[in-house]
Amino acid sequence: MKRKDAPHQPTAWMRERLSDIEARARAIRQAHSEPDGRIDTLFMPLYRMGAFGSTEEYMCDHCRAYVPERLIPVMLVPLPRLVVTGGLCPACAALEGIPAEKGEPR
Ligand SMILES: [Zn+2]
Repeated sequence: MKRKDAPHQPTAWMRERLSDIEARARAIRQAHSEPDGRIDTLFMPLYRMGAFGSTEEYMCDHCRAYVPERLIPVMLVPLPRLVVTGGLCPACAALEGIPAEKGEPR
């Protein structure tokens, strides 16, 4: 994973998650027998999708803490046309070098 202006290294957990997600994205593209350039951007969850308003929606994807007031939204682009979204608690976001202020552009 490369992020501009962010020399911070992701944790082993994040590297493992993104490696798994990237492998699934490649498998999806191969299963559809499309040349890589013909499939639109894939959106995949960092851990799992929570139903709207569910407890899961407000849980940290890493440590599983329930933090409805403090979940930090995360959006990563580990490969071209692969967008990974999720949420981390402030402590886990800090470990990944992600700013804790909500609404800050990334
Ligand atoms: Zn956490």
